[in-house]
Amino acid sequence: MPMNQNPDPQVLSHVQEKIKLITTDEGAIYLVGPIKLPVNLLGETVEFKWYCWLNCDEVTADFERIIAKLSSANLAELQQSSVLVHGDFHDADHALIRFHSICHTGDIFGSRRCDCGYQLKQSMKHIAEHGNGAVFYLANHEGRGIGLFSKALAYILQENGYDTVDANLRLGFVDDSRDYGDAIKVLKALRTKPVTLITNNPRKLDALRKAGLDVEDRVQLWGDVSEYNEKYLKTKIERSGHLNEGEGFCNND
Ligand SMILES: [Zn+2]
Repeated sequence: MPMNQNPDPQVLSHVQEKIKLITTDEGAIYLVGPIKLPVNLLGETVEFKWYCWLNCDEVTADFERIIAKLSSANLAELQQSSVLVHGDFHDADHALIRFHSICHTGDIFGSRRCDCGYQLKQSMKHIAEHGNGAVFYLANHEGRGIGLFSKALAYILQENGYDTVDANLRLGFVDDSRDYGDAIKVLKALRTKPVTLITNNPRKLDALRKAGLDVEDRVQLWGDVSEYNEKYLKTKIERSGHLNEGEGFCNND
């Protein structure tokens, strides 16, 4: 990123206490927060704390240098991930977490071709009811990592008889290319105790454990099955190894 002039020193004094440097193999993650975020959760206002993070090649504790680059970095053309935290997430004995892959169609438009929007809201509700936890909203995971434009093409293939796995494969992608490394690093900056993962997908659980996540338990999340997503959900169970336990048949993550 090119450098602009130095930012107003007052700006730095307001924000520098809220920025945390996390080093990675490729550079650094700059984690900003907590920021108060009262959320309308199914009709009730629930207080969350919001954090957002930015990956950068440059590793520096001089945040003035990072702020100076922002206005010319065109960040709106890229996606940044974030996390919503509720309650005493750092110290609570048992915390619920969800690693939610961004779904433009499901989360924003309320599409019923998948159940992402339902799972996002329900995860937040479970966390609020449990008293603490975190929802990681992973912005580079659209379409299980293929991006929004490719997902649109995959949807067209699905309308022509391909299932979700084959559609991704036919477009030249692997079925699931999501990486959780950065999110786990951010989690470790916010909490070091074990977590309970909200997911129906045992492969995701394994992937997260392999990537260093300390998971003590898994809870399922069922619901919002409809004529529009039945085939999609069946593919999840039959081809992607999702567990179909209890009452529901479903899940999308
Ligand atoms: Zn979705």
